[in-house]
Amino acid sequence: MSVEDRINELKTIIKYHSDRYYNQDNPETSDYEYDQLMLTLKAIEKEHPELVTLDSPTLIVGGGVKRKAGVLVKHNVPMLSLQDVFTKEDIYSYVNRMIEQLNDPTFIVELKIDGLSMALRYVDGKLTVAVTRGDGIIQGEDVTENAKVIKDVVRKLKDPIPYLEIRGEVYMSTEAFNKVNEQQELLEKKIFANPRNCAAGTLRQLDSKITKERELSLFIFNVQDTKGIEFKTHTESYEWLKKQGVKVIENYVKCKTADEVWNAIQATSEERGNLAYDIDGVVIKINNLEDRKELGNTSKVPKWAIAYKFPPEEKETKLIDIEVSVGRTGRITPTAIFEPIRLCGTSVSRAILHNQDFIDDLDIRIGDIIVVYKSGEIIPKIKGVVKEKRFEGTNKFKIPDICPVCGTPTVREKDTADIKCINPNCLAQLERRIINFVGRNAMDIKGFGSAYVKELIRLQYIKDIADVYSLFNYRDELIKQGIIGKEKNTDKLLDAIDKSKGNEAQRLLTGLGIPNIGKVAAKSIMKHYRSIEELKNTSLEDLQNVSDIGEISALCILKFFEDNKNREIIDRLKDYGVNMAVEDTDSEDNKFDGLTFVVTGTLTSMGRNEAIVMIENHGGKVAGSVSKKTSYVLAGENAGSKLTKAQELGITVISEEELVNML
Ligand code: NAD
Repeated sequence: MSVEDRINELKTIIKYHSDRYYNQDNPETSDYEYDQLMLTLKAIEKEHPELVTLDSPTLIVGGGVKRKAGVLVKHNVPMLSLQDVFTKEDIYSYVNRMIEQLNDPTFIVELKIDGLSMALRYVDGKLTVAVTRGDGIIQGEDVTENAKVIKDVVRKLKDPIPYLEIRGEVYMSTEAFNKVNEQQELLEKKIFANPRNCAAGTLRQLDSKITKERELSLFIFNVQDTKGIEFKTHTESYEWLKKQGVKVIENYVKCKTADEVWNAIQATSEERGNLAYDIDGVVIKINNLEDRKELGNTSKVPKWAIAYKFPPEEKETKLIDIEVSVGRTGRITPTAIFEPIRLCGTSVSRAILHNQDFIDDLDIRIGDIIVVYKSGEIIPKIKGVVKEKRFEGTNKFKIPDICPVCGTPTVREKDTADIKCINPNCLAQLERRIINFVGRNAMDIKGFGSAYVKELIRLQYIKDIADVYSLFNYRDELIKQGIIGKEKNTDKLLDAIDKSKGNEAQRLLTGLGIPNIGKVAAKSIMKHYRSIEELKNTSLEDLQNVSDIGEISALCILKFFEDNKNREIIDRLKDYGVNMAVEDTDSEDNKFDGLTFVVTGTLTSMGRNEAIVMIENHGGKVAGSVSKKTSYVLAGENAGSKLTKAQELGITVISEEELVNML
């Protein structure tokens, strides 16, 4: 790959993650992994300055503006980002450089709150506007109504001055975050991955009642602009702000040397776990405001401050137990159960141990002190065992050689580390199979929760997936026994089951639970075959013509359909009226074959997902960012940087109406 291609690849990946993080409040990767990508890009750009372009993420403030609706506000003072550093050497080098350059500087070491930036403008002492960072330079989103319901936002200054603009970090305390997620769980709504995403989503949505309920907080960390008062130092401005009732960053430390700065960073790192909110590092700032002016800014960051980012959070805890469960394919999975710890904003107490090899490699034993971290800041993983802290009398752990549910002897699969229960009648497997079948990725039968699945299996109403459609025959019995509640609830579930009969064939294929065949593979396969029945009689050669399907997946499919029991289940599903066929795809339906679309802005006549499904159903691809390869950009209201990029690259921009007309 040429250097230019590598740069473009990194830019595309970084922009994709930026969009998910800033605009969708739904990141897919950890900050650490994102920062590593950025560091790689910076390093390559440093070696090849001739390849640096103005749209490089190393030069622009992340984000852009993309609120669902509402007003955009022009920035009076840019809301810049911060230069990140990750090592002790970087800190020493920055501080010593500043000491050389400036006259006896003082450094302020502050907590770097993990939330989102907001600026507040006061005219004659009264709050007039609250704005998010947006693109940092030109405009942000107007969030004044939401800001007004945040208890830390002061609406009136005690000593009014003609103009004041301050900037701070909106965040959510751990307690408030846990409350929101408990509530979301009760309402069966989306659970937020961490307080930062929750705070960002809450500030940027449109209903200030929701903002109020969710209890956001704010720390002010800078005075951006003033009229009627002048400060000499950052700390002086903090003291004045405190008198006005404004909550400024807590516990900042004044330092004179690199050693002092480093000690303050170390102390903060140790205290991190005891704070009532998340921080992702510390910020080191020059205190003297004249010095700041002299140092100035780059297009992206001020030169008078840097952010030291903490390495990914990991914690020690005690392994209490190893739980062994059986999946839908009979695979036995060990799970570590440990004393709850807080990591990246949530409490965790379980992590997958994968298989016996993994357990042996770590030599993990019940009672051990283990080190846990979160992969992608979301999934808890075990990094290792603290062997020095091992207690006497612990034993090596071995996954039992009988199934924990049905007691059948387990078998270790050839060529893999998996241990399986091979009893096809094992209730645990059946339970997982049915949960998969009725689940969101497969037949998506609303209201069919795992508690009902378990009970219906226990009472032998369900012995295989086809039995889901035989429940109609037992309606009165089910109501009498109250398994799914009374008449209303039972009928509601039976209706949902009935509706699922008309699902696309790819959903049924996903629901069959064939090993290796998930939602994405099922979609590719059903583009190639006209029906499940055609697939049932396919060959290895033919399956290998399906894009994205490898030999192992192909063999899994063949093995599944070779089993007469499975063939019989398919026949019964068909008899119950479950759709087996793929809708006819004439040439019109593949109209978007080979075309790549980017969807941006708020679509008013259709949902974003609806547009994506429409494009994909007609053979098109939807990408996260605009590049030369983009065929069309579908732009709704308030489309931001993607629209600008499309215009720069001369890519055709279409409206929702035009998309529909194209079909
Ligand atoms: P940043 O978060 O590294 O630092 C700048 C921000 O720090 C400022 O905007 C400000 O709001 C905030 N801040 C908090 N406390 C502060 C204080 N005391 N003083 C000054 N500022 C303070 O930079 P960024 O540009 O906002 O975001 C880049 C970072 O976001 C990346 O380094 C990465 O960690 C994360 N990110 C993650 C993903 C992902 O997919 N996980 C994607 C994009 C960005």
